[in-house]
Amino acid sequence: MIVLKFGGTSVQNATMMDRALDITYNRINDAPILVASAMSKITDTLIKLSAAAADGDGETAQVLLEEIMKRHTNVAKEFLTGSNLEEATKRLDTYKQELYSLVKGVTLLKECSKRTLDTILAFGELLSTTLIAYRAKERGIPAEFVDSRLFMRTDDSFSNATPLMREIRKLAKKHLKPVPGKIIVCQGFIGSTAEGVTTTLGRGGSDYSATLIGAAIGASSVEIWTDVNGIMTTDPRVIPSARSIPEISYQEAAELAYFGAKVVHPSSIQPAIEQKIPVWVKNTHNPDHPGTVILPDVESSGLRAIAAKKSITLINVVSSRMLNAYGFLSKIFSIFEKHRTPVDLIATSEVSVTMSVDNTSRLKEITHELQQYGEVDVRRNRAILCLVGKNIWDDGEWFIRAFTALRTIPVKLISYGGSHINLSLVVEEENSEEAIRLLHREFFET
Ligand code: ADP
Ligand code: ASP
Ligand code: MG
Repeated sequence: MIVLKFGGTSVQNATMMDRALDITYNRINDAPILVASAMSKITDTLIKLSAAAADGDGETAQVLLEEIMKRHTNVAKEFLTGSNLEEATKRLDTYKQELYSLVKGVTLLKECSKRTLDTILAFGELLSTTLIAYRAKERGIPAEFVDSRLFMRTDDSFSNATPLMREIRKLAKKHLKPVPGKIIVCQGFIGSTAEGVTTTLGRGGSDYSATLIGAAIGASSVEIWTDVNGIMTTDPRVIPSARSIPEISYQEAAELAYFGAKVVHPSSIQPAIEQKIPVWVKNTHNPDHPGTVILPDVESSGLRAIAAKKSITLINVVSSRMLNAYGFLSKIFSIFEKHRTPVDLIATSEVSVTMSVDNTSRLKEITHELQQYGEVDVRRNRAILCLVGKNIWDDGEWFIRAFTALRTIPVKLISYGGSHINLSLVVEEENSEEAIRLLHREFFET
């Protein structure tokens, strides 16, 4: 059993959907499960549509709804005929009616809760997989459409739901029956609560769906099919000379993903780790390229890659009372816990602590509460650079090279020692691309 996940650009039109089916069909004897994202930009458009509806702008919402449906019906007309086209069109119409009712409700109420938004966003994946499943039928490929909400059980943290692995394992046994000679087509990103309410796993969550499914059914491998040649030394959109990395460890991949390498979702490594499932990252546009394999461990050492996460905020608390005070940090962190805001990096001195956060939705409240412990200074528009490489940081030479390369860039915070594979730095956002360029040149272009 294997799981193949195709991202938005990998199912962005009829040609790409066919390619996803070709790639999966090549593996039909491995009992494949094809997990698909929404067609590229559809989730973004559904978010826009919901925002317009929540503003009471039903007209814009309706225009966007028509746009979404047209893109799908055009694909249906392009690659389906006869009864397949008829049935698929009926299915698309039903989805359209459901979406229409939801949008109407949101427009009237001028309110779109996270719960409603999840229900709306799920249509992106339901629409794309409907087309893929009918196309398989059209081509005579044995395929079964499965609604992932039947088995992807989550809690009710709408928009970023937590999967409940034990339940998923049980439900997957019941609803997913992969066999050689058949393709199962199901949706990434979406799930449901025990009460049957639709949830989503957060943006980019289809990768997570794929590894969760892989872990639930005991797949021999999971393949993430995307638009680049695997995990690369840095984001190729920023540094076109970035190279693909043949092998990387779970731990390294997880660090990179967490600190901004969008190519795999940060949560997607954990389910693979638990079952030691190899995860391949491959390019749908270039299927012969070996891409990257993510493994429990990798022999070779050296700097593997550089990731960057922008829109970071640094919060500095200066307190003379901190001196020798046990429990001080715990008080500080309990404020972040209360506001459900993760802290990524910390640096402390005797009288101060600096923390970096990504999610600033509760910044005002957090700042206010921190003020009882000292002077609080907030700096926005920072970026974290994360340099990942196993067994390299014990050798001072790597630090010298990194900081020499960065000698023209002011570094605002340094974090090392947490994992021994990751050196993280904070710089001003406007300097982050230049910093990556300098580091990439130093480590990968000589
Ligand atoms: P998908 O829609 O297939 O899930 P994403 O857009 O989520 O694809 O992820 C692929 C993108 O991730 C690439 O186009 C690339 O710009 C970006 N990316 C960021 N960092 C890296 C990296 N280190 N290696 C490869 N791609 C990266
Ligand atoms: N369609 C969802 C998104 O755009 C999930 C995914 O593509 O992984 O975030
Ligand atoms: Mg993605």
